[in-house]
Amino acid sequence: MRFPLHVTTDMMRWQVKNKMAGNKRYPVVLMLEPLYTCNLACLGCTPERHTGDIRNRLTLDQCIEAIEVSGAPVMSICGGEPTVYPELVPLVEAAVERKRHVYLCTNGILLDRFFEKAKPHPRLSINVHLDGMRDTHDFVCDREGVFDKAIAMIQKGLSLGYQVCTNTTVFKETSTDEIEDMMKHLVSIGVNGMFISPGYHYEKLDTDHFMFKKEIHEKFTKILALSAQYPVFNTPLFLEFAAGRREYPCTPWGNVTRTPLGWKGPCYLIGDKYFATWEEFWNTVDWDYWEKREDERCQNCFMHSGFEPSVVRKLPESLQDVWKIAKWQFLS
Ligand code: SF4
Ligand code: SF4
Repeated sequence: MRFPLHVTTDMMRWQVKNKMAGNKRYPVVLMLEPLYTCNLACLGCTPERHTGDIRNRLTLDQCIEAIEVSGAPVMSICGGEPTVYPELVPLVEAAVERKRHVYLCTNGILLDRFFEKAKPHPRLSINVHLDGMRDTHDFVCDREGVFDKAIAMIQKGLSLGYQVCTNTTVFKETSTDEIEDMMKHLVSIGVNGMFISPGYHYEKLDTDHFMFKKEIHEKFTKILALSAQYPVFNTPLFLEFAAGRREYPCTPWGNVTRTPLGWKGPCYLIGDKYFATWEEFWNTVDWDYWEKREDERCQNCFMHSGFEPSVVRKLPESLQDVWKIAKWQFLS
């Protein structure tokens, strides 16, 4: 079994419910960013995500409202750094109570603090940011010692009975041999699975670390092959897309993003406008336009937040793809 069965069945139930209600578009994942404060300033991160004042964080009630109004069965608590969010434990408890599957995305530095107050739950996964082995990860995080701390927290989480996965962004400098070394290492310490995605080239970042389409396809051709040997959580159809073997429209409404500035539109990556209410966000963004990927900022985007929901959306159109996903889920 590749991906936790209860997450898959809840997602299928949510889709059937929406189809039966005649909804053409509906969120699958809520990206909840309760604060834009962080204890790191990574190279690939937009400044607003890590320089925010903690006093401007979302309240617990605002977070719960986002969970309820979006209805998405899966949520990622990200940010900023969620372990800095003072109301994190009650937030996780509120989400689990509402039968959401929670991925707590963290750099791991303060996970000890969370482990002291929280307890494991089948609906909770700890998702630790890890962009390579020690030198690369510490370089990307712009601080020595982050890799060692992240690995120690992965081990501690597993020993306490948490489900622990990792989240890797691939940059121009990332070597696929190193990605394989990282996968081997993570499997040896018992991690449950790994997410991997190409970095998104934010306009605001004046860096040369991001890849263009051709480089993404080359690196993900290798990563697609690695996914047959290691517990990669991305679907094989998404990895084929990132490797340039198939095309998808974008599904920006599949992963909706609530931030301290409002609902972010059109997508997790582009904040053209922040909306004060869900209704305004959902009914105002020009989804037809963004699905077509015609915008210049979409040209080198192969992010899982935009395209894993496309895999789900387009799956019923091909029996061959349904079979591929079934094999991946149940026989690997
Ligand atoms: S840990 Fe996450 S939020 Fe913080 S700077 Fe790094 S990428 Fe940005
Ligand atoms: S292609 Fe990427 S940048 Fe464009 S709307 Fe989709 S997720 Fe956003």
